[in-house]
Amino acid sequence: NKILFNDRIIERENVIDIEDRGYQFGDGVYEVIGVYGGKMFMLDEHMERLKRSADEIQLKIPLIINDLKNKLRELVLINNLEEGIIYLQITRGVAPRWHTFPDETVSPVTIAYVRSLKRMTDLEKNGVSAILTEDIRWLRCDIKTLNLLPNVLSKQKAVENSAFEAIMHRKNIVTEASSSNVFIVKNEELFTHPANNFILNGITRKKVIQLCEELNLKVNEETFTVDTLLQADEVFITATKLDIIPVVKVNNQPIGTGKPGNVTKKILHKFQSLIQPATQT
Ligand code: PMP
Repeated sequence: NKILFNDRIIERENVIDIEDRGYQFGDGVYEVIGVYGGKMFMLDEHMERLKRSADEIQLKIPLIINDLKNKLRELVLINNLEEGIIYLQITRGVAPRWHTFPDETVSPVTIAYVRSLKRMTDLEKNGVSAILTEDIRWLRCDIKTLNLLPNVLSKQKAVENSAFEAIMHRKNIVTEASSSNVFIVKNEELFTHPANNFILNGITRKKVIQLCEELNLKVNEETFTVDTLLQADEVFITATKLDIIPVVKVNNQPIGTGKPGNVTKKILHKFQSLIQPATQT
């Protein structure tokens, strides 16, 4: 198992310093990129989001994006990854622990590694259940930072309640789930929270919106309440490698018929045609 460490591909070993700011402050950004049939899916979109996240926290990405893309390709090849994910993170680097940014001589630390992971076809087919929980995160959820404690706590609560995902709401407005975006279907129209500071603008979310356009399905990027969610005809979540998973129960209440709905299936079918057999690089 080889990893990318700054600009070198090396054997996986302990290269993380105890004073890495990612480790001590969660001071960094990350991406999870899906790999299907040996190819990275929507790589440019992930690189664009990474750049934006880094800019928003005033972190300068040490590698030129094109070089980074090539390194990631090399990493996938060298590890013979067919189906899985790349985890990529950049932290503000290693410096004596002090809250303010270290001086310019400290360079950010880039790490990437791959993990093989199969598509979750059983969940896709049968749907999952979710719980509702309050969104206790900060006001910059649009930045993909390493600070994931509220997300961790929400997902843990879901699992402790025999659910797969935790759908979060702020003052009764559904934002997103602990590690995925949320869509609802009502009368053949879709609704999802607008891409503002309250959610992470998912790459899969963006793809789904694009596919809906091609399918002549109307997507309203508008907020909706918990009650609207519970009364929806269909609910589904989207995220890298989860792709599109129907949510058939929320807080033990069935959604619609309690089975994956037709609109969800239609979008999923279209999505599958993009990733099978292979995709873009
Ligand atoms: N929202 C949150 C909070 C997430 O952690 C994720 C997954 N990283 C998503 C949405 C989905 O984003 P993407 O489709 O880019 O994986």
